[in-house]
Amino acid sequence: MKKMSLPSTGKYTLPFLLLAVVAISGCKDPDTDDPNIPEPADLSHLPFGGPNILIRNQGNPQPDHLSLWLCGLPSDGAGNADASDWTNPDGTWDYTRKPQVNGNVSWSSEFNVALDGNGNRVITGNALPDHPTGVFPITPGSAAYQYDGNPNIISEHEVYYVLPEIPQVAAEPSCVPFGPSGISLTGSAIYHGSSTLGNDAAAHEMLDRFGGHTDGTERYHYHFPAQDLQDHIHPYEAGHSVIMGYMLDGFGIYGPYGENGELLTSADLDECHGHTHPVYWDGEMIDLYHYHWTYDFPYNIGCFKGTPQ
Ligand SMILES: [Zn+2]
Ligand SMILES: [Zn+2]
Repeated sequence: MKKMSLPSTGKYTLPFLLLAVVAISGCKDPDTDDPNIPEPADLSHLPFGGPNILIRNQGNPQPDHLSLWLCGLPSDGAGNADASDWTNPDGTWDYTRKPQVNGNVSWSSEFNVALDGNGNRVITGNALPDHPTGVFPITPGSAAYQYDGNPNIISEHEVYYVLPEIPQVAAEPSCVPFGPSGISLTGSAIYHGSSTLGNDAAAHEMLDRFGGHTDGTERYHYHFPAQDLQDHIHPYEAGHSVIMGYMLDGFGIYGPYGENGELLTSADLDECHGHTHPVYWDGEMIDLYHYHWTYDFPYNIGCFKGTPQ
């Protein structure tokens, strides 16, 4: 009889509890370094991702570290191509100088994540965010409008994903198509880091304070892990960031802080923008691949490590 081998789940419950106790009882003496205060991110000097956009059907058959591996680029792209007003002399871009799409528009979001008991995670909803957004179409005369006249509205869409409860790393990674790459716990889509023009979307397109905007499909979606988005999902406490959503291969995407509370950059992650170590997953710590949002390109996904739906 063949012996069944159980998958390694690497439980870390006791150390996790101890850590939690230490975090709760942590001394707040202002003279000591408080490990709960996250390392600040320098959002004023971010690299433009454009040169790191690889397109499979245009001579890039494989993903690469620090890059986004797209399946293709649409021929009818639209958006802003001029980021010169927030480009630094050293060629980086300054998030703090880039205009935002202002406004405070409320939406009636529906969103649910459930395990079906048969190894699947079923995600349903209406694609609207559970937080206010900027005004779309972008208001003529606003600061953002002079760069990006995004004429699109935000509308409802059926969300229905059946993802593996515990995804597996595929034999080969796969390229990332346009459209949703994942779903945020806010109920709206996560898009990869490229605009339809093939440039760095977060660096060029006009986003609201949650790092989101809409497109020709009228789908609200995120390109950047804005502080308001992170705080809305779960204010940062300590250690590894909490989960912020699921990519379409079923792996989770977490905020920008790693296991020891260090601020991650894309250089810390693999070609698909993730890594493997124990993470909190459906109520327990298991050793599992996962993606991270970072403040540098490609921001969320470089390629699909698993098998996308
Ligand atoms: Zn977009
Ligand atoms: Zn991690």
